Order: sequence, then C-alpha cells, then structure tokens
Amino acid sequence: MIRKLLRRVFLRGESAKRQAERIPASRHGIRREQVSTGARRTCEALQKGGFKAYVVGGAVRDLIAGIPPKDYDIATDATPEQVRGLFRRSRIIGRRFQIVHVMQGPETLEVSTFRAAHDEDTLKDEHGRVLRDNVWGSIEEDAARRDFTMNALYYDPTEEVVLDFHHGVDDIQRKTLRMIGDPRARYREDPVRMLRAVRLSAKLDLRLDPKVQAPICDMADLIDNVPAARLFDEMLKLLFSGHAVACVKRLREEGLHHGLLPLLDVILEQPLGEKFVMLSLANTDARVRADKGVSPGFLFATLLWHEVLTCWEKRQQAGELPMPAMFAAMDEVLDQQGEKLAITKRVAADIKDIWALQPRFDKRSGRMPARLVEQPRFRAAWDFLVLRAQSGEAPQELADWWDEFAHASHERRETMLVADSGPKKRRRRSRGRSSRADETKVSPDGTP
Ligand code: ATP
Ligand code: MG
Repeated sequence: MIRKLLRRVFLRGESAKRQAERIPASRHGIRREQVSTGARRTCEALQKGGFKAYVVGGAVRDLIAGIPPKDYDIATDATPEQVRGLFRRSRIIGRRFQIVHVMQGPETLEVSTFRAAHDEDTLKDEHGRVLRDNVWGSIEEDAARRDFTMNALYYDPTEEVVLDFHHGVDDIQRKTLRMIGDPRARYREDPVRMLRAVRLSAKLDLRLDPKVQAPICDMADLIDNVPAARLFDEMLKLLFSGHAVACVKRLREEGLHHGLLPLLDVILEQPLGEKFVMLSLANTDARVRADKGVSPGFLFATLLWHEVLTCWEKRQQAGELPMPAMFAAMDEVLDQQGEKLAITKRVAADIKDIWALQPRFDKRSGRMPARLVEQPRFRAAWDFLVLRAQSGEAPQELADWWDEFAHASHERRETMLVADSGPKKRRRRSRGRSSRADETKVSPDGTP
C-alpha cells in the first residue's frame, strides 16, 4: 500500500517535474492572426477570468507545420463549471470526460480542463486499455498523457509563446513522429494510437520514429478490443482527412492494413475492388481538400460494394432471382460490417439507397429512367455509377447516357430511350406500350 502510494507520488512527480521549454515566435513561427478569432477570444476571456488558457494539440502542430488547422482545442485549468460560467453561449458535454463547447460566432471551440496522467489506480481492461481517466491535473500532467510529442504543444496567443514539454517543435521541424513515453505501453493503454500514428504521418508527411513503428505489427490485434463506435469515429477521421489514399498506402507499406482496418482487408485483395476503392478514396480526398461536402454513406457504400457484388453473385449462382438476391446481399454485408464498424442506422439507409439504385441503371427503356432521375438519391447513385465506370466495372457509355438523360428535355429523352430487348413476355408488353406511345407521339412540327 505504502509502496503503491510512493510510486504514485513518484510517477506524478516525474511528469510534473518536466519543465516546459518556452518557444518564442521567432522559432515556432505562428503569427497571432493565423489563430482563429474564436480561439483567441476564448483564451483571452479565460485568462481575464484568472485562469490559464492555451490553444493545444493538433491546431498548434498544424500551424507550426504550415497547414491551416481544421478546428481548435483549448486547454485550461478552469473546471468545466467555471468555463461554463464565463461564456453565455456554451454547454458542458460528455458524462465521463466532461468538456465544454464554447460557441463564438460560427465557431465551436472545445475547451478541456487539464487532465491528470494515468497511474496504478487507473481503471483498465484485461489488455491494459485505459477505461476511465477523468481526474483533473496540472498542465505538465496534461502534456504527458497526450500521444505524440508534437501534439503536446500549448500556444498562448496573448504572449505568443509555445510551451513545449517533450521537444515537439523539434520533432515537427525534423518531420519525425515520436511518442511520449514508451510506445508499447502507450499502444496498450489505447490501441487507437496506432491508427493515429499512420494518419498523422500521412497528413504531415512524417517519418515514424522506429520505436513508434516497430511494435505496431504485433500489437495491431489490440484494435479488436476498441469499442466499435470509437473505431468508427477514428476511421471517419482517417478516411475524411483529405489524405486517405496516402493513409491506406502507408497502412499497406507497413503491413498494417490487415486487422487495423478490417473493412479494407477483403476489398484490397480483389483487383477490381482495389481500383474502385482507391478511386473512391482519391475522389473523397479531392472533395475534402476543395472543402466540398462528403458523406459517410457514399464512402462506405463504395468501400463495401465489392463485398456486395461477391455476395450477390453467390446468391444468384445458388438460384436466387437477381433483385431479391441483391437486397439479401446488401443486408448480409451490412449486418457483418455494420456491427464491427458501428455504422449507424441512418448511414446504413443511405448506403442501401445508393446500392439499390445501381441495377436500375441498366434499364434504359420505358418509364423507369424518367422516374429514376426524379429520385432524391439519383445524384449520389449516379456519382457511384461514374466510379464504377472509371474502375472498369460498368461501361462509361452508361454513365454518360444517364448524365445526358438527366439533363435532357422531354423530347430528347423520348429519342434516347433504348428499345426494350428483354424476354419475350416483356417485349410484347413493351411493344404495346410503344405503340401507345407512337399514337400519342407528337412530331417537332406539332402534327401527330
Ligand atoms: P486532427 O488534426 O486530425 O484533428 P488531432 O491531433 O488534433 O488531429 P484530435 O482527435 O482532434 O486529433 O485530438 C486532439 C488532441 O488530443 C491531440 O492533438 C492529442 O494531444 C490528444 N489526443 C487525441 N487522441 C489521443 C489519444 N488517443 N491518446 C492521447 N492523446 C490523444
Ligand atoms: Mg484536432
């Protein structure tokens, strides 16, 4: 008991002892105006209230690396209630890790209270994964519990100084991703850090410190113990980082795509599937970088499509009719992957809409095409068809036809429709329909 207590004091003392290096603007290169107005105002208000306040984490790292941050996190010694008391437009969120969302104009800032480092009393699962850590601590402890050295930087916009506890600024300048503490222990505490290492190295074009890289291969299985919802969030971050292609390439180079991203395992092993997925990821990267909207439904529909195709084919070979087989295949794939990836019901519904419309693109006769282009999901489904065409799975001519049809006048559409070449029974029906259409068809000069 006494030993435990001593060790705890010692451990806390170790991290608390580490002095921050105060890096001046001439070395870190951040200009105050580069920091968003909302982040500056939030820090100023907290400091006026008598608290410490810093921009922290990814935003500081990105600013030093010359990349515009996508959002800002603020760290403070004020408790969530104290923060809440200072900002009219704010709310406390989270039950276990309480943080405060502060609204400043169009921005939402995430304000967290400094957290304590883990110690022997921290609740962990049987693999060593940390289950709970919501004890407030000092700024030194807060820095020590962050993952990589370059993520433990604290920028004070008032003094324009960066507090650097673990030589993170040097590591950014040397383009090396280094872990705070022992990488093996840190991966055990939170296996998601393996994914973060790959994502950050792709985003910032960093070399992985060999100590960060080496354990990943044999520890990748620990990812299985991460709750699905957390993994899903992390996957979205990776896939919507604007560097998804680079991330996936790195995962493969490191031999990490197995296990880390169970979803990609199967797909990347099918030649056509790989081309399709890579095209889709490149397309997503381009949209993210151009600040265009991206939807998880669309992306997951592309990632899982080749599994659906395989399953669909199997069912048809077993004698099922095409459409029922398609719907059954969709459900089967979503049931398997959806659970692992915590795909929400809403996203699953979007995915199904896009898939279910694909076979309908093959019907270019009768009244179906006009109905299809009126569907609310037509545009997404057509974008999906374009990807299929680019990967060689569908004819390009088909994608072009639908694009022209969707934008054509009523008259032009009539001339575009392809004569139905279905089985005899259907042909007879369509003949009937077309003869009726002939009766009512009006020539350009208005005569029947
Ligand atoms: P991005 O630019 O993609 O947002 P980020 O590093 O800011 O990258 P966030 O998920 O926004 O990633 O996390 C904010 C900060 O919280 C990180 O910079 C890091 O300091 C800390 N952090 C996040 N996840 C972990 C983790 N799994 N373990 C330790 N610290 C973490
Ligand atoms: Mg961030």
